[in-house]
Amino acid sequence: MSYSYEAPVSQALFDRASRVTPGGVNSPVRAFQAVGGTPRFMVSGTGPYLTDADGREYVDLVCSWGPMILGHAHPEVVAAVQDAVARGTSFGTPGEGEVALAEEITARVAPVEQVRLVSSGTEATMSAIRLARGYTGRAKVVKFAGCYHGHVDALLAAAGSGVATFGLPDTPGVTGAQAGDTIVLPYNDLDAVRAAFAAHPGEIACVITEASPGNMGVVPPGESFNAGLKEICATGGALYISDEVMTGFRTSKAGWYGVDGVRPDLMTFGKVMGGGFPAAAFGGRADVMAQLAPAGPVYQAGTLSGNPVATAAGLAQLRLLDDAAYARVDAVSAEVRTLVGEALTKEGVAHTVSAASNMFSVFFTDRPVRDYEDARKQEAFRYTAFFHSMLEQGVYLPPSAFESWFVSTAHDAGAVERIAAALPAAARAASEATA
Ligand SMILES: *Cc1c(COP(=O)(O)O)cnc(C)c1O
Repeated sequence: MSYSYEAPVSQALFDRASRVTPGGVNSPVRAFQAVGGTPRFMVSGTGPYLTDADGREYVDLVCSWGPMILGHAHPEVVAAVQDAVARGTSFGTPGEGEVALAEEITARVAPVEQVRLVSSGTEATMSAIRLARGYTGRAKVVKFAGCYHGHVDALLAAAGSGVATFGLPDTPGVTGAQAGDTIVLPYNDLDAVRAAFAAHPGEIACVITEASPGNMGVVPPGESFNAGLKEICATGGALYISDEVMTGFRTSKAGWYGVDGVRPDLMTFGKVMGGGFPAAAFGGRADVMAQLAPAGPVYQAGTLSGNPVATAAGLAQLRLLDDAAYARVDAVSAEVRTLVGEALTKEGVAHTVSAASNMFSVFFTDRPVRDYEDARKQEAFRYTAFFHSMLEQGVYLPPSAFESWFVSTAHDAGAVERIAAALPAAARAASEATA
């Protein structure tokens, strides 16, 4: 498709970037490849708004893919960061900020008895899986198609078209040996999990799942899915790992655990807990965490783990996230969902607004979406048209139909009004789109 508007400064930056960085970006989905067009280079953010290099302002419905739950440049988070920076940016020793952040996490999320801080969600899931393997003395890992757990080698075996796929890496560079112990199953299918445990008795170290998936679009777990996973793991001697990198401290004060109350053995966190800085964590049962070095034999480390600036940002953000803040995020989310649904219905566009707490996404299909197969059957070409119309009108959506939308406490009536004003034309563009 062609775009009636231009972004010359972003285009020039993208050309420069593409000469020195593969694909012009430092994380693939930023490149707009799924929707086409020029990725916007952002220069600043305030509250619910982003400003790009061409001087155009957008209502931000990506929020840095989740972390910016208080909006951009929240004054109290900025102050905490400035204060921390002025006292030195890294010591390579323990510090009180790390302790305070760990205490905040364990106080919020009951199953986390002990926690280890790391710098990215990828590191968190990688380490949790190593720990699960070390603790159980088993090799195999069960994951679900469409769930993303960072770019950990063993977890990039996403494969599969509905059928259980055993250990086929889906990116060059991941060897069969690295992915060979990964079992990929369809999401929301407990029978498939039972069958995998029956086929591999005593071999499965853990089941890892997004607490409520947001990386194939938003596809919440069925009523008893997480509880079922927990039970199958307990019976089969495996650990149940709930990946809350996206949902943690986002979907409630205690993340998705605060929504469904299913107690995992291990959990992973990132995004919101870093306040816009690289901070992440994994934690859980004290007897399992005790296996981690230097308390135990399973090695794990990081030069910048528990960085004082990152922990200050994360702590400041978490302390501002009280019940009122979540009520606000939930309310804005519900408002935007309703507006989007109404606009698409009015234009007769088949769609499903899928929500899990305040996370949501729009599938361009009216059939139920319960797993990755269902998600892929949507008319994603309609999202492309919808996305570009919204972008042109100053609303920044995720540049893919398979990503969650995020709102923040800073999305006020003015921001919602701008979204509402943009929706009719975007819905029309979606209805007129052709594959
Ligand atoms: C974002 C994400 C990750 C990876 O985190 P990074 O900080 O990007 O490495 C892992 N799991 C889930 C569920 C995520 O959403």
